[in-house]
Amino acid sequence: MRLSDLQAITHEDLLITRLGQRTVDTPLQELLGNRQESVHYVTETDRVLVDDTLGMAKNRGVEAADLPAFNPGGPRRKLFFDPSEVTAAIVTCGGLCPGLNNVIRALVLHLRHAYGCRDVLGFRNGYQGLADGSEPLRLTPELVRDIHTRGGTILGTSRGNQDPATMIETLVRHNVNMLFVVGGDGTLRGAQTLATEAARRDLPIAVVGVPKTIDNDIPWIDHSFGFQTAYARAAESIQAAHVEASSGVNGIGLVKLMGRHSGFIAAHAALVAQGVDFTLIPEVPFTLDGLLDGVRKKLANQGHAVVVVAEGAGQDLLPPSTATDPSGNRKLVDIGAFLKQQLTEGLSDLPLSLRYIDPGYAIRSVPANAFDAVYCTRLAQAATHAAMAGFTSVMVGSRRGRFINLPIALATKTSNHVDPHGDLWMAVLETTGQPLSL
Ligand code: ATP
Ligand code: MG
Repeated sequence: MRLSDLQAITHEDLLITRLGQRTVDTPLQELLGNRQESVHYVTETDRVLVDDTLGMAKNRGVEAADLPAFNPGGPRRKLFFDPSEVTAAIVTCGGLCPGLNNVIRALVLHLRHAYGCRDVLGFRNGYQGLADGSEPLRLTPELVRDIHTRGGTILGTSRGNQDPATMIETLVRHNVNMLFVVGGDGTLRGAQTLATEAARRDLPIAVVGVPKTIDNDIPWIDHSFGFQTAYARAAESIQAAHVEASSGVNGIGLVKLMGRHSGFIAAHAALVAQGVDFTLIPEVPFTLDGLLDGVRKKLANQGHAVVVVAEGAGQDLLPPSTATDPSGNRKLVDIGAFLKQQLTEGLSDLPLSLRYIDPGYAIRSVPANAFDAVYCTRLAQAATHAAMAGFTSVMVGSRRGRFINLPIALATKTSNHVDPHGDLWMAVLETTGQPLSL
């Protein structure tokens, strides 16, 4: 929409015609509850703002400068770095996610072609490549030409802690003045320590994060890249489970999806695939009895049942694992295998055909779909603008459709969860018909 059209909007243009007084109680109360704090029920005095920047509000003659507001992403007229003196570096860390190569490609092309930067280096295998003395790849436009068609990351990735001082010394040795880190919460925390170490040594090195989390658990932003590709692929597995379940006698399709702490993939995939009877996510506890009872009823009523479980759901039903990965993240207990066993044993009085599908690695390794390919490119461009402007300890993302720069410290303080009282979960409950609590 053109800026002039936005500015011409008035209160009157936005009024919705209403037929009359509302007097009928909603039957949705069963689904939404009757809590005052429920976010589902809209307060008639509330409004969604047209203007979403302080500048736009000011143009309208409204002083909104006291409202908390994000630093806008995008190109600046004046840069901190002289492009002819810029050597940029890229690392990808943590688990795989669709779109990593798209981000690498767009960073290289934007830095080299749009800004005319001197060099872009790719350090291999995440932070490890910044610490082990190995030679980085020289990322030329020719080298990255076709990489966006492939899943994974051409740079490789790793977990495990590295010494920030050693990593900064590597950057100095290669004359790097901006580092792009593509990774999840752990990677962003690592980026923060790198930026702190650079500042301690008075080194003007910009550290810019492109958040990568297939679970969509980074807060403040609309969604993370690769997430849509992931739930589209996850939905295919659910559809397969549905076909299997509905073709068997008392068929049960059980699908384990990613989602360590956040159930976004499971919730969205359930909405795409439909046909899901129970969606189990980390944010909404359930009991085994509740699930067994629910599945038994479904089998009796419709002859089959489809259960989708996020890997972090139901962790309280089992003794916690003490094992950790090399980055120190606690490993989860395998809820999928556990539910498979519990459903088989708990329903052993019935002739069952249970199919268990765990598509995890197949989901994270696919190339980005069209939507994520666009988002990856735009994120990389926003990250480049932020770095050239001299921002550091910063992460980029889109919020309500607008690109923003936000402090990594803020982004790593909390994480994004499915709100059990929010409209996404309500949509899942409505679609699956599963009870509010199991
Ligand atoms: P994902 O969640 O998708 O697996 P991630 O970025 O969270 O991605 P991790 O393995 O947790 O993956 O971390 C990636 C890298 O960041 C590792 O090299 C790890 O050592 C480093 N890292 C993690 N947490 C911190 C921290 N608090 N401080 C410094 N570095 C960290
Ligand atoms: Mg993580």
